[in-house]
Amino acid sequence: MRLLFLYPQHVGKEDVPPIELMQASAVVSPDVQKRLIDLNINGRSIEDLLEEIRDFSPNLILCLGRSIKTYSQVKNLSDIIKRAFDVPLICCGDIRVAYRTLLNKGEIDGIVNGDVEAVLPKVLRSIKEHGLVNDTPGLITLRNGMIVGERSRLNLVNLDTAPFPDYDLIDSKHYFGDLDKDEKCNVYRDDERSKESYFKGRRSIEIVSSRGCNHSCSFCINRCTKNRRHSIEYVINHLKLLTKDYNVGMVDFGDSCFTEDKKWVEEFVNGLMEEDIKILFRIYGARTDQVDKSLLKKLKAAGCTSIYFGIESFSQDHLDYMRKGTTVQQNIDALVWAREIGLHSPVQLILGLPGENEKILERTLSTLREKGIELSREKVRYVLPIPGTPIYDLFTSFGIIKDEEDYLLTVSDINTTNNWNMGANRKVELFVPNQEF
Ligand code: SF4
Repeated sequence: MRLLFLYPQHVGKEDVPPIELMQASAVVSPDVQKRLIDLNINGRSIEDLLEEIRDFSPNLILCLGRSIKTYSQVKNLSDIIKRAFDVPLICCGDIRVAYRTLLNKGEIDGIVNGDVEAVLPKVLRSIKEHGLVNDTPGLITLRNGMIVGERSRLNLVNLDTAPFPDYDLIDSKHYFGDLDKDEKCNVYRDDERSKESYFKGRRSIEIVSSRGCNHSCSFCINRCTKNRRHSIEYVINHLKLLTKDYNVGMVDFGDSCFTEDKKWVEEFVNGLMEEDIKILFRIYGARTDQVDKSLLKKLKAAGCTSIYFGIESFSQDHLDYMRKGTTVQQNIDALVWAREIGLHSPVQLILGLPGENEKILERTLSTLREKGIELSREKVRYVLPIPGTPIYDLFTSFGIIKDEEDYLLTVSDINTTNNWNMGANRKVELFVPNQEF
């Protein structure tokens, strides 16, 4: 049995490792041959891609669509591959929210509904026994023109029995950051602790300590997905493996909401100290209503260099409109505390929401000026309506999004910080004048 992992280009985030594919690879039995074709590295022509697939002759292709912005690639790749080969092709990742369109318009045999570690072994078994993937539990499929499996229970694994991601699947030179020279390690280099000899030559990598989120922000793909966490012991052991076997010294926690469970965060910090784990780390997903100054101090003391709060706005109307559940004051407090403690904490804002106008933006800027908080352009992005979220429904109800596939093709491969046509160049259309909250 041969299993091919396919990682389409993730525009703007080409250096983020394909964690779902690494998790999937870790549960595959040793008698399955595996190969990764990573389109984020070394540009390939379509002919080269087809030649590689022909050479490997897989029994199954698992494609990772990390976001709806990969829709066009996933669809086109499925068309091209299925025209050339009779091979089952399934998808995992956040692209699953567009399952209806993807299954109807693309050449996809199934979309993973749940944890890939729970579903992939079933798919492999199904191929071995029947040569087909269609009836596999855990896949959303199209059967006789009908979508099947989207309402069945999510297939989830016990996170603590899941093996660590397969780090040998990926190109280490590309995905492990080099403290001495890589741009993605700038924030670590800015931290005085990185000058210690221990960190010389150390590398960085992104991992997760949890999946899902309990909150219901109206724009977010992770809304209401229920936060599930690894145990402290699991994460500590994961870090031990990375520091010992992969020379890692810096870890980026890519959790959607790392701070969801304050007790867990405190125990994690204690665990790092007790086990004498020496790492610097960044937290990519945090909420301002879940931290206080004392927690931030503990995180800093344990090696945290940066924490990225989902600030989104300094307008309470907008925060409420987004169902963010935070207040402007909590946003200001968290940023000011982080600055006082010496944690890098860039202001992340979302623009382009209905009702937004220059007055609201000016209020945001004056709040930042008043508090002496710097705004960095690359952390400001335009809202990207995601199918299945209230914001998406709102945009369709306003007639801004008329057809899901047209929309998905429009937003494919865009960078929402600067070159999204629906946002940056046509923002007037996104603003709904006189919209009342
Ligand atoms: S924006 Fe953050 S807090 Fe809100 S639903 Fe998404 S992950 Fe959760």
